[in-house]
Amino acid sequence: MHNSGNNSRYSRQILLEEIGAEGQASLHNQKVAIVGVGALGTVAAELLARAGAGNLILIDRDVIEESNLQRQTLFSEKDLGKNKVAAAEQRINEINSEIKVETHAIHLNPQNIAVLQSANLVLDCTDNLQTRFLINDYCKKEQKPWIYAAAIKTSGYVMPFVPGGPCLQCFLAESNLETCDTVGVLNTITVSIASLQATLALKMLLGKEVEILLYHYDIWNQNFKKLNIKKKENCPACAGNYSHLEKKETSKFIRFCSAGKYQVLGNKELDLAKIKERWEKIAPVIDEGSCLQVQNITLFKDGRALINANSIEEAEAIYSRLVGN
Ligand SMILES: [Zn+2]
Repeated sequence: MHNSGNNSRYSRQILLEEIGAEGQASLHNQKVAIVGVGALGTVAAELLARAGAGNLILIDRDVIEESNLQRQTLFSEKDLGKNKVAAAEQRINEINSEIKVETHAIHLNPQNIAVLQSANLVLDCTDNLQTRFLINDYCKKEQKPWIYAAAIKTSGYVMPFVPGGPCLQCFLAESNLETCDTVGVLNTITVSIASLQATLALKMLLGKEVEILLYHYDIWNQNFKKLNIKKKENCPACAGNYSHLEKKETSKFIRFCSAGKYQVLGNKELDLAKIKERWEKIAPVIDEGSCLQVQNITLFKDGRALINANSIEEAEAIYSRLVGN
């Protein structure tokens, strides 16, 4: 570790009048939660860690696949199959060992969303509206600032939210809930959108004024727009009706974006050591501490599993055979 005092690592940033020595020191005490450590989350986490934002909470439910490597900049081929938060933590430690990283390999839901409690700022780097509305309700209720970001094909959106201002439900309808993209995405737009999100994050952490606007960037056509969003009359979240914090998952099985991948929601704490012993009689087991992997199943401590299968029925069968009911 080359820890040469406070000035060398951040010298180029301290020179900026926007940050300075005082701003740099204050960044060290900040805590940012990043929900989703994928195309946007890996970039935002890396930039904030390099910039010296002292504490990061990383939340992601998934493992790393080959198709992620095109744009998820914290990961490389040696990480394939690992859970995203563990691999991201390891890489961030290599980049800047001064940063404290807390990880949660969970599917964020109303029951566990209090993991965001200690964060000064929440970054939405997810790929689905359900989780975004959940973050929106939680942050509205807790009066926590957060930043929405989304990218698809060659363009993307970013919008900061602060207590008292408009919220996500003021302009996004629940009717077009989609869980994933099947249309592709350019890596230059995900990196650009995450950079804009991280820049707004730095400004907010430093207590600077940010314009509460919806930013839209189409990088293929070099088109950048700022859109005004007004508080919507009758917006449920703005009226204090936090329906997404009360929702229960209706099914134990959730189909994932990538074809042939299913998530089974867990409902009890498992003894992974015991299960590992059992599984080792069947096939080689990869033990990552927070999760176990054998054949086509990755199992987490809380009973949640990711399964590659051809149908829900097959996923269900694999789960009950290897984990139980
Ligand atoms: Zn609203």
